[in-house]
Amino acid sequence: MQIYMPTNIYSERNCVRNHKRELASLGKKALLVTGKHSSRRNGSLEDVETALQEEKVPFVLFDGIEENPSVETVMRAAELGREEQVDFVVGIGGGSPMDAAKAIALMIANPQEDERILFAPKELQALPTAAVPTTAGTGSEVTPYAILTLHSHKTKQSISHKIYPRLALIDSRYLKTADQETLINTAVDALSHVLESYLNTNANSYNRMYSEKGLSLFAELREELMMCRRQNGNPAAVLSDQAFERLMQFAVTAGMAITHTGTSIPHGLSYPLTYEMQVPHGKAAGIFLPGFLASYQRKEEVLSVLKRMGFASLEAFTAYLDELLGKVEIPEGLWIEDVKAVLSNQAKLKNYPFEIGREALYAFRR
Ligand code: NAP
Ligand code: ZN
Repeated sequence: MQIYMPTNIYSERNCVRNHKRELASLGKKALLVTGKHSSRRNGSLEDVETALQEEKVPFVLFDGIEENPSVETVMRAAELGREEQVDFVVGIGGGSPMDAAKAIALMIANPQEDERILFAPKELQALPTAAVPTTAGTGSEVTPYAILTLHSHKTKQSISHKIYPRLALIDSRYLKTADQETLINTAVDALSHVLESYLNTNANSYNRMYSEKGLSLFAELREELMMCRRQNGNPAAVLSDQAFERLMQFAVTAGMAITHTGTSIPHGLSYPLTYEMQVPHGKAAGIFLPGFLASYQRKEEVLSVLKRMGFASLEAFTAYLDELLGKVEIPEGLWIEDVKAVLSNQAKLKNYPFEIGREALYAFRR
């Protein structure tokens, strides 16, 4: 058994400004990596810019990361970083900019290589990275993973390099601008992480601490998330400051859980859905959770996670998720291809503790 959690994590109000020295100590010139709009609206970009200015560390900005970032975008940002001779990278935003920042840091540090090394089993160093999350979902601020869209393969895939952010600066105020869909879908992503980590071949009593904590945080959050769905409005008008903080903590804890175990079949099934139907990541994984729990053979473990989340039965959990997420109609042809892809995805299958075949996987679609 091993616990390895090397990211230095701070979580508090005004976190970026409070820890500007540690951020600035990562290097001499920074590449800031963001999505197109949200980091300006929620104040995270301004906080990072101000912190670096006050510490007299120059920076350049790449603000063109799309949702589910592509290899092509990563290569464009890396080119800017090399031209500007940056020596560290700060990902600011949801999982997309934070994941992209890791891959960009790898490509800048290895200018002799091309994009093929992203998915090649080669030992390479990346530039130091920091992460400032603005969604409460992926946990990318603490995980070593980065998932990129591969247009050449019409899907998404994790890069083969493990890149832990050196520093994670977490301030739940940034989450307050999230709309209802983003907030719910990203929270369900974190829920997928805790469930896929707890019910995992690599789960043991040490690393289950993280998913167990995640399950109890979710038990405290589930009614508030449903309130967001039912009131159909701005989450900031529905949720308390404490709820936003708990959501961030939930995502970070869930990230720590998958850092030790990886994800499993729901994540494997989600990628083609996101690629082909643009279903947001958390929703695309979350719709498979009832099927995942139903197929899982050690029923006492399933009962234990349901109880920890505060559900009396799998049916009650399924009804809750159906209402929270809504239905996704997956066309037959895509579904057949999706199941086929998972059956050949050794990385995801090996994390599922039992043999699973085509028929059992077909039953995941509801
Ligand atoms: P995202 O793709 O980063 O962002 C989704 C949308 O939310 C974007 O339109 C973004 O706008 C907006 N947004 C972000 N923060 C906001 C805020 N505070 N207020 C309002 N809008 C905000 O979504 P995500 O779910 O966080 O990340 C998904 C990606 O992470 C996927 O590629 C997934 O595969 C990956 N992932 C990684 C890990 C890991 O361990 N590394 C784990 C799970 C998933 P802008 O584009 O304008 O910023
Ligand atoms: Zn995920």
